[in-house]
Formats: sequence, C-alpha cells, structure tokens
Amino acid sequence: MAPSSDGPPASYLRTLDCVHCGLCLPHCPTHQVLRIEADSPRGRIYLMRALAEGRVDDAEAIRPFLDRCLDCRACETACPSGVRYGEILEDTRATLERARPKRGVAAWLTRTLLWHVVARQRRLRFLFWWLRVFEVLGLQRLATALRLLPAHVATLAPPVPPARERRPLRTGLHRPAEGTEVRGRVALFTGCVMEPLFGRVNRATLDLLLANGFEVDVVAAQRCCGALLVHAGQPDRARQLAAANVRAFRDADVVINNAAGCGCALKEYGHLLGTDEGRRFAAKCRDICEFLAHEGLTATPRPFHGRLVYDDPCHLCHGQGVRSAPRELLRQVPGVELVEAEHSADCCGSAGIYNLLQPELAAAIGERKAAEIRACAPAAIATGNPGCMMQIDSHMHRSGHSVPVRHPVEFLLPPP
Ligand code: SF4
Ligand code: SF4
Repeated sequence: MAPSSDGPPASYLRTLDCVHCGLCLPHCPTHQVLRIEADSPRGRIYLMRALAEGRVDDAEAIRPFLDRCLDCRACETACPSGVRYGEILEDTRATLERARPKRGVAAWLTRTLLWHVVARQRRLRFLFWWLRVFEVLGLQRLATALRLLPAHVATLAPPVPPARERRPLRTGLHRPAEGTEVRGRVALFTGCVMEPLFGRVNRATLDLLLANGFEVDVVAAQRCCGALLVHAGQPDRARQLAAANVRAFRDADVVINNAAGCGCALKEYGHLLGTDEGRRFAAKCRDICEFLAHEGLTATPRPFHGRLVYDDPCHLCHGQGVRSAPRELLRQVPGVELVEAEHSADCCGSAGIYNLLQPELAAAIGERKAAEIRACAPAAIATGNPGCMMQIDSHMHRSGHSVPVRHPVEFLLPPP
C-alpha cells in the first residue's frame, strides 16, 4: 500500500487525518480489555500508516493487532477529526490478504465458509438443516461432552429453530399491503444468516411492513451482502455479490433490510464498487427501524408489559448513524418500560465471525455486555442484528439470566 505514481491510496490519506488525540481510546472495546496501545484505534492507525509508508519490515507482525479489531467503528463515532477508520482497516486487510494470504487451517476454513457456504443460500440452509438434526439427536451435547467441539463453539452455537420457523420467504414474491390506504412499495433484503436462522424475523419484518400499509417485493436473485468478505479482506469476492444485488434490486425505489451488519454493507456499495450504480443503490437502502420511524407507524403494536432493554448493534449506531429510530418505535409499544443499559453502543463481541476467531476476547467483551444488561433486570432484550442476538443470548444464558432476545420488529407487530 505504499504511495504509487498514481498518487497514494485513499485509505492511506485517511490515516493522515488522525491527530493522535486519543479521544477514541476509551470507546474501543479491545483497548478497554487489553490496555495495549497497538490494540487501540490510534495504535492500529499508526501501524497501518507505517505499513503503507513501507516502514514495516514484517507485515505479519502487525496482523494480530488488526485481527483483534472488531471493526465495530465505535472509534469513528468518538473521533472529532472524522477519521474513517473502517475504510482504512478494510483496505489494509485487503492489501495484506492480496500480498500474503493467511495460511493455516483456520484461515482456509474461514475463506471456504464465507465464500462457498455463507454466500450461497442453499448451502447455508443445508448446513443449518444438518445442525438442527445434530441438535435434535443430541449429538451436539455428546460432541461437547467428548470435547470434540471447542467449548466456545459449543456454547455459542444457538439452538437452531424448528423447520417451520426457518422456512425461507419465497423470493420473487409480491405482497399487497393490508388495508385500503397503500403508502408505498418497498423491496425486502432477506440476508444470508437472518433467513435460515432467524426466518421468523424476516416474516415479522414482512408482516410489519404490510400491516403499516406498504406493498412488499421479496426480490428474486438477491445474494448475501458480502459484509463478512469485506471484513475478512476479500473485497473482490464481495464485489461480485454487490454487483448481483445492484442488478436484482434495480427496479426498487426503497430496499429495506433488518440486519445492521448487512445494512451497513449495502449502504457502502458506492465505496465498494466505486460506480454510480453502486452509489444509487446505496442511497435507496434503509434499515427497517430507520424507515418506519421516518414514515410513522399506522398499526398499533401489541402490548408488552415489562422492562425492555434495547441494545445498539455497532453497525447500526456507528456504521449507519441510526440510534433514535429503534427507541422511538419501541416506546410506542403499549405497556413497555424501555430502559437503557450502560454503554449500550459498545460492541457485544459478536462482530460477524469474530467470536469464533477471537473467542477469549469476544467472551470478555460479551460478558461485560451481559453484566450491564443484567443490571437493568430486563424482561426482554431487543437488538437488530442476528450476530448480536446470538452473542447476547449466549452470554445471558451462560450467566444464568436467560431472557428472550428479539429483533425490534418482533415487538412492533400489531395483534394478530
Ligand atoms: S473498530 Fe472497534 S475494536 Fe477496532 S479500533 Fe475501532 S473501536 Fe477499537
Ligand atoms: S482516530 Fe480520531 S479520536 Fe482517535 S486518536 Fe486519531 S484523531 Fe484522535
């Protein structure tokens, strides 16, 4: 990533925006746990700048510090100089991966899983089908008891819901709005993990839009958003998925998504693809809560009598700047007592597949998140990202305080 005759790469120029003030440090989850400068945003930016300037002899030496970054972007929110940390990190990871792809079984498995399974809906569904069989037959417990599964994989693995809850939404589907007043027409992005694991959330999103007067297209030929590939330093593969999504949604005016990580990636297709088409697509993407808070609810949600904690997914609050919309909507649930946990905008440690790749650090961050939520004594938890739902559920469960963890849309549905 050294400056070339075409001019230095944009991500290198962005490292120069950092004035080393350190205001981001208290907001960085890895720095809070490890207390090492190189595991802080400022330290990582310094290392990435040094790499780009050719001052690092062995690039492998800085890789562990970049690997430990959650890409949660809390540092972007905290930074008074507007440093676009996410772009610097993702471009540097891509540069490193191109120059010297990671070796070893874990790296090979990650690449295989992300490209050959996660990015292909049928294979991902097939994987979850097997996981469900594994679970129903009690083989997961057996494998854990015999220590055939790493402890963190066994405890993190969420119970795979029964088939009726995982049933995918039929794509190529147009659903008319309920009621007589049609307020608009939107397209629904269903996502890779949300669909096979939390199919009920996609159904709730569809039903919520219909109940609030919107026609919905579940567009055929849509693909995984590519976020995990971008985070893993594989933007070329992510571009293939992005181009397919731009084509699939070309006739849509508004593209609704309900997973913060996907939503953030979709809104960054302009940067990823570097084309006007990509920028036009990005401009029409909306998170479901962002969209409904702007349009207003016309269907009153069914009552929820209890204390509800809303936890901000990083890629919604830091990545997309959407903070008030989910809270505004959840406050409209009759009977609800919406409470704030301390450090609600701090990462829960999920971060895509981070909790599989960095289990100890992810567990330390997840435990702190669960402790802060527990202090609110909630009856339920709402958060808008599948990874966060699993991570928070897992850590609440581990601490013996299991409460339902749901997507905000599940609280906003009107009575049947
Ligand atoms: S993205 Fe998150 S983990 Fe990475 S440096 Fe910024 S605050 Fe720290
Ligand atoms: S990233 Fe921003 S907040 Fe952090 S040290 Fe640099 S200028 Fe300061």
